[in-house]
Amino acid sequence: MPVTITDVQTILTQPAGSRLIVVKILTSEPGLYGLGCATFTQRFQAVYTAIHEHLRPFLIGRDVDRIEDLWQMAMVNSYWRNGPVLNNAISGMDIALWDIKGKRAGMPIYQLLGGKCREAAAVYSHADGGTNEEIEDSVRALMAQGYRYIRTQASGYGGRASRIPKPEGAVEGSYFDPREYVRRTLNAFEHVRNTVGEDIELMHDIHERLRPIEAVGFAKDMEQFKLFFLEDPLAPEDNAWFRHIRQTCTTPIAMGELFNNPGEWLPLIQDRLIDFLRMHISQMGGITPARNVAAMGHMYGIRTAWHGPGDVSPIGHAANLHLDLWAPNFGIQEWCRFNELVYEMFPGTPEVREGYMYPNDQPGLGIDIDETLAARYPCTNEIIGWTQARTPDGGPARP
Ligand code: MG
Repeated sequence: MPVTITDVQTILTQPAGSRLIVVKILTSEPGLYGLGCATFTQRFQAVYTAIHEHLRPFLIGRDVDRIEDLWQMAMVNSYWRNGPVLNNAISGMDIALWDIKGKRAGMPIYQLLGGKCREAAAVYSHADGGTNEEIEDSVRALMAQGYRYIRTQASGYGGRASRIPKPEGAVEGSYFDPREYVRRTLNAFEHVRNTVGEDIELMHDIHERLRPIEAVGFAKDMEQFKLFFLEDPLAPEDNAWFRHIRQTCTTPIAMGELFNNPGEWLPLIQDRLIDFLRMHISQMGGITPARNVAAMGHMYGIRTAWHGPGDVSPIGHAANLHLDLWAPNFGIQEWCRFNELVYEMFPGTPEVREGYMYPNDQPGLGIDIDETLAARYPCTNEIIGWTQARTPDGGPARP
């Protein structure tokens, strides 16, 4: 008798800034359940509906062991596919089924993938500041905690000049000046390299804020600072420009958190135009597609750097960690330093010590959720401001 799916529950909670979506798959075996991450924080109600109204009835009664079959079938069952809402819903299912399979096997998921290549995953964290001195202090504070890889930004995603000459009557928005951003960031990196030195790995996230030719020039200008990687230099819509960056400099390139579709990552891998794959595990559809892309990247000499901000749930971070421990081509793991409440709400959330993230070696993902506590922090639904980005002339821009 196969173990079957008896219910699919969707848990929404907001213990820190981000709205988190957790899928819980209950089974016909008493006490056996799995947890998955379906977090699309900006459109959480759409994902909730996709899971509750569409995926749940599709899954009830199915065999929990058939992860691959269910993934493929869930992807085409809607006919229209590869969008963020449905991918996140499918990810919640996929990760929960891997969790169940691990619990049934009595093994952590990294064992099911092929076993460990390493004991822990090296992580990077984020340094930031308004002035060069603040940025340097932020970098040094992380170094003192044992971090050896640090993403360094000047005033967040940057370009917020003290005075942006908007036209009269300009609408409200999150204004930034791309030219100011470039000048400010180059200046900050010169300061950090001059004061902190070469003994630390630095990365930087452009966050697709530059026009393509500006990004090509910026990647070239940043080459002197010997980055570990330069992240999201281009928007997915501008994928064809990656070739120009490659032909212009040797700055290592990381890309992928916005990718939904194999059509976006395949050409970049096949033509060796990027160096790190950093997809958002729930956005791409879970562990199953991430495993496949990691294996493909390995054959092309490209490493992984899965997206790991606060809007990946702790369950998503645990899934990242299992992939990190297994993948021969693991590069680095982004880490968002969750607060104490998150650790209390999600027992088994991965722990980071001296720059390394460690598994707890429990079967499955090794993480759980305190649903009573989660219910005390309901999601707020509000219009999001920071993604209403505009350039100085008032025109809309990518955030
Ligand atoms: Mg990013």
